[in-house]
Amino acid sequence: MADDKPDTIVVSAGRMSQEHFGTVNTPVYRTSTILHPNLASLKAEKSKRYVYGRRGTPTTTSFEDAISALEGAARTVSLPSGLNAITTAILSVCGAGDHILVTDNCYWPTRQFCGSVLKRFGVETTFYDPLIGEGIAALFRPNTRAVFCESPGSLTFEIQDVPAIAAEAHARGASVLMDNTWGTPIFFPALKRGVDLSIQAGTKYIGGHSDVMVGYVAANESHADRLRDFSGTMGQFLGGDDCFLALRGVRTLAVRLERHQKTALKLARWLETQPQVSRVLYPALESDPGHRLWKRDFLGACGLFGAVLKPVSDGKLAAMMDGLRHFGIGYSWGGYESLIIPAEFVRTARKFEAEGPVIRIHAGLDDPDDLLVDLEAGLKRLG
Ligand SMILES: *Cc1c(COP(=O)(O)O)cnc(C)c1O
Repeated sequence: MADDKPDTIVVSAGRMSQEHFGTVNTPVYRTSTILHPNLASLKAEKSKRYVYGRRGTPTTTSFEDAISALEGAARTVSLPSGLNAITTAILSVCGAGDHILVTDNCYWPTRQFCGSVLKRFGVETTFYDPLIGEGIAALFRPNTRAVFCESPGSLTFEIQDVPAIAAEAHARGASVLMDNTWGTPIFFPALKRGVDLSIQAGTKYIGGHSDVMVGYVAANESHADRLRDFSGTMGQFLGGDDCFLALRGVRTLAVRLERHQKTALKLARWLETQPQVSRVLYPALESDPGHRLWKRDFLGACGLFGAVLKPVSDGKLAAMMDGLRHFGIGYSWGGYESLIIPAEFVRTARKFEAEGPVIRIHAGLDDPDDLLVDLEAGLKRLG
């Protein structure tokens, strides 16, 4: 198992067919109660694998075991959304009086959580420049408990030097958390790069079909028990149906990502050459400022990227997006469908200079040429 490659792990990990009459997929267990044959069995509950619905079922075990194998993690906790995975990971390591360093280009609701709930519970946040690298050393305080990375960051796609940041954090006894939704465990093996808690909005590529909300946190050995204890104490649980859909997504994750990557690269390379486009934000491009770090640390790039357009009126931007045939206008990404949105973001540590409007594109599983033709017509509407 240890030597299996990710493409093999995703199709085989977490199977327990012989416990389910040979069925290849673990069925959906919908249960609260687990019945015992007698009182002695009830009293021996601590030795039992399944005792009560909230504490897990074979459906959750299959999903979590598959993810642990893929992440190289000691334990995975499945959760009801990506955002819940973010807040769970942070709260499992931070308490009143602590300080946390959070990347300036994090997913917006992460920033909101830091400024509201974390603040109310006495945890102070400093947002750091995503390009800081080992310079992060200067931001640590005696009470800095954790660093929260996201690379590339939401909407602007700067790549961070995660191994350098992790080394500085670990030298000071701080934990390293990472929202790894863009990289997925296949393209960015977070725990191998120094991350302690690898966070995933499974709603995106893990589910892959835009039909389920799911999150998870995968922990290394040193963080596994506190993650399990915190999450269990909070009463968090991912229902059987959602777990089943998430695991079904895992089975095809590797092949889907390969196609998303191929299409995104084709569209990004083409967009770079267009007169209406100022620059493309996609670390897999040689022209991207984060390309060197991406090449060193990542094993691939997913289907999500950005583009900074030349200055253009709101009306023309709307005409460009409204007229697209194959790109839906909507949040989320990572599903089979192609999407586009205008990108709006807040930065406090490092300003992101944009010549014109920033857009975000998700390259879905459509034929790449159809998508290109669609974008070509769209750019023409920009004038
Ligand atoms: C969507 C997203 C999340 C949140 O996931 P939900 O399942 O929608 O809660 C977290 N991080 C990133 C980078 C995302 O894009």
